[in-house]
Amino acid sequence: MKPLQIYNSLIRAVEEFVPLTPGVVTFYSCGPTVYLPQHLGNMRAYVFVDTLKRALRFNGYDVRHVMNITDVGHLTSDADAGEDKIEKTARAQGKSPLEVADFYIAQFKRDCAALNIELPSDAPAGDHPAPPQSALCRATGNIDAMIAVITRILANGHGYVTPSGVYFDVEKWRGPGGRGRLARQSLAEQHAGQRLEHSADKKSPHDFALWVLNQPHHLMQWDSPWGRGYPGWHIECSAMSMKYLGETLDIHSGGLDHIPVHHENEIAQSESATGHPFARYFVHNAFLVGMEGAKISKSAGRFPVLADLIAAGINPLAFRMLCLGAKYRSELAFSLESVRAAQSNLDYLNEFARNLNESALASEQDSAWAQEYAERFHQALNHDLNTPQAMAVVLEMVAQAYRLHDQRIWQTLRRFDQMLGLDLAKRLDEVRAGVLPPEVSRLVSEREKARADKNFARSDELRALIEAMDYVVKDTKTGVVVMPRRVAT
Ligand code: AMP
Ligand code: ZN
Repeated sequence: MKPLQIYNSLIRAVEEFVPLTPGVVTFYSCGPTVYLPQHLGNMRAYVFVDTLKRALRFNGYDVRHVMNITDVGHLTSDADAGEDKIEKTARAQGKSPLEVADFYIAQFKRDCAALNIELPSDAPAGDHPAPPQSALCRATGNIDAMIAVITRILANGHGYVTPSGVYFDVEKWRGPGGRGRLARQSLAEQHAGQRLEHSADKKSPHDFALWVLNQPHHLMQWDSPWGRGYPGWHIECSAMSMKYLGETLDIHSGGLDHIPVHHENEIAQSESATGHPFARYFVHNAFLVGMEGAKISKSAGRFPVLADLIAAGINPLAFRMLCLGAKYRSELAFSLESVRAAQSNLDYLNEFARNLNESALASEQDSAWAQEYAERFHQALNHDLNTPQAMAVVLEMVAQAYRLHDQRIWQTLRRFDQMLGLDLAKRLDEVRAGVLPPEVSRLVSEREKARADKNFARSDELRALIEAMDYVVKDTKTGVVVMPRRVAT
C-alpha cells in the first residue's frame, strides 16, 4: 500500500507523510474559542481533525494529539484590536469569564461526542508527564508556559517591552520585504484592507502582542515579569503545542482562515524562541459555506449549530457523513437538502449493519471479494484523505453484498467504520441487544409525559429528536412502539 500522502501548506503540494519519530505522530490542532456555540462550519474543522487522526491510526501510527481551548486573549479582531471575546459575552450575559468558558466547553464536548469526534483527555493540572502527550488544554491553565516562551523570544531579541504590552518584532524576524512562510505574502499584502491597531508603542503596525499590559478593565489578568496583564491569542498555541508535544511538531492543523495571520505568527514566535522548525506539515481544511441561507427556522440571525439539525430530525452523524462526502480541501456547500442526502446514505449503511445475519457476524474471515474493496478504500484514504472516494467504495461494497446475497463483509466494514466513525457496530449492537439507547429511552418517556399533558408541540419536538437518533416512534392502540428507522418501515 502506498504510504499516506497529505497536502502540506508549507510546500503547497501533496507529499508523503513521514513522522519525525517512526511510528509516533505529534499532532496539534487549533481548537475553539469558547464564547458562543460552535457553528457547523467550526464543526467541519473538528470532523476533519478527527478524520485525519483516524487516518493516521488506520495507517498504524500512535497519535499524540493536542487541542487548545481559547478561554482568554482572543480579541474581536485578530489584529490586536477590540474586546476579549469571552469577556464580551461575560459582560453581555452577566456571568464571569470562567462561567462562560465552562458553559461553552461543555457544549463543545457534547457536540463533538454527538459527531463521534474523539477529543483528547483534559490536560491534568500541575506537572505534566514528558512530551509528547495528548491533551485538551485551556489557555488559562497554561499561562506559565506562555510566559516562558515570551521570555525566550525576548532573550533572542525578537520582541520588545513597552508600557502597553510586549510585542513581537515582525519586520526584524522576516527581514526587509520578507514573506510569510505559509501565505507567502509581504506584510503589506498580508494586512491589506485590514484596519490595524497602531498603538504608538509598536515599532510597526504589523507587530503583534505577546502579552498585553495596562488594561485595568480586563477581567482576567496574571502577574508576569513585565507586569500584570494577559497573553495575546497567538502565543497560546505556540506555548501549549510545544509544552505537550515537543519543540517540533509533525502536524499542525486549522481552518484556511488561519493561514495568513494566526499560523504565520505561531511559526514566527515558536521558531524565534527555539531556533528549530515548528511544524513539519501544516494542513488546512476548507470552509463550510452556504450557512447564511440555511433554512433552519431557529437559526435566523446566526449560523446553524448542531442542535438545529437535531431539532430538524437529522442524525448528527449525517453531518459527519456530509463532511466525509467532500474532500477536506474543497469548499463544502451546506443545505438541509445536502445533509438529508447524506443521511439517506447513512441509513443505507445502518440498515445493512442492523440486518446482518448470524453467519456473517460469526465469520472471522470475510469473502475473498471484499479484499479488493479494502485495498481501494485504503488507497483513497492515503491519497490526501480522499474521503468521498473512500465512501463511494464503502457504498459500492455494500451494494455488491446485496447483489451477491453474500453478507460476509462485516470485518472489512467494521474496519472501515473505525476510520469513518459512523457507529455502524453500535447500531448493530443495539438491535441485537433489543434495547433502546438510554438517550432514546429518556426522550420517549419525556414525550409520553408531554402527550399526557396535551403538550403536543413539545411532543412533536421530541419526536424529531428521537428521529435524529435514527429511531421511529409509532403511537398504536396498545401503546407507543419505538423501532430503529428503516427496519421499522
Ligand atoms: P474559531 O473558534 O473561530 O477560532 O474557529 C475554530 C475553527 O473553525 C478554526 O480552525 C477555524 O479555522 C474553523 N472554521 C471557522 N469557520 C469555518 C467554516 N465556515 N468552515 C470550516 N471551518 C471553519
Ligand atoms: Zn492556534
